[in-house]
Amino acid sequence: MSFLSLNNVEVAYDKVFLAIKGVSLTVEEGSMVALLGANGAGKSTTLKTISGLLAPERGEVRRGQVLFRGQDIGQLAPPERVRMGLVHVMEGRRIFEHLTPDDNLLAAYPGRSAKSSFSQLREQAYAYFPRLAERSKSKAGYLSGGEQQMLAIARALMTEPRLIMLDEPSLGLAPVLVKEIFTIIREINRKHGVSVLLVEQNARAALDVADHAYLIENGNIVMSGTTEELKRNPDIQEFYLGGG
Ligand code: ATP
Repeated sequence: MSFLSLNNVEVAYDKVFLAIKGVSLTVEEGSMVALLGANGAGKSTTLKTISGLLAPERGEVRRGQVLFRGQDIGQLAPPERVRMGLVHVMEGRRIFEHLTPDDNLLAAYPGRSAKSSFSQLREQAYAYFPRLAERSKSKAGYLSGGEQQMLAIARALMTEPRLIMLDEPSLGLAPVLVKEIFTIIREINRKHGVSVLLVEQNARAALDVADHAYLIENGNIVMSGTTEELKRNPDIQEFYLGGG
């Protein structure tokens, strides 16, 4: 039994436009998997399929199976999926800018259904992101882009996830910050055994940190393997690693 698997998943927008065309992928428990691809390839759509954020009432239709820990979760509402341990950090750092980091974390804390106390989880989050602890009392809107991305990830940790899905955490960040954030994500994965599905256009950074990767082009998975295998692939080198 795989931890997470997508079997032949198709998603249509406006009932007709196929954004993903039969995607199959697996994430093993405790692993870190990257989903790479260019702008518009279908990466965000794949994540929305897993977290349940497609909206059938807007004509966003899915076919195929999404299994998490042996259960077909395709019909579950997003909050139920969060309770099962799936959390999705969406592209663009969705945080409450007018609230402090502390209050952002509190807003993400599930309350009664949580296994740990708020202060335990906050302490753990600040241990990963000490910069946030230093700025815990200023408004989140005043944080730098990198700190806001850290806060978005810290918010996700408040749900005590088994699998964290990250949509383009490197977007708009300087290379040194990308490295810092990816190192912390890897630590969360290794130390806490939280599985990671990382969506990235920045193939180089993602291949340096993940165990396994999939490449999606025009809604189809066209390649998969260990990150070492993908780094050696001439097409990946030419088209995704800039000839390096
Ligand atoms: P990006 O990095 O730009 O987010 P992506 O790989 O995540 O790219 P998706 O956002 O999944 O790609 O988009 C896949 C395709 O579906 C694109 O052609 C996109 O234009 C289209 N698409 C995405 N969202 C919608 C929507 N709500 N309605 C219609 N078409 C959409």
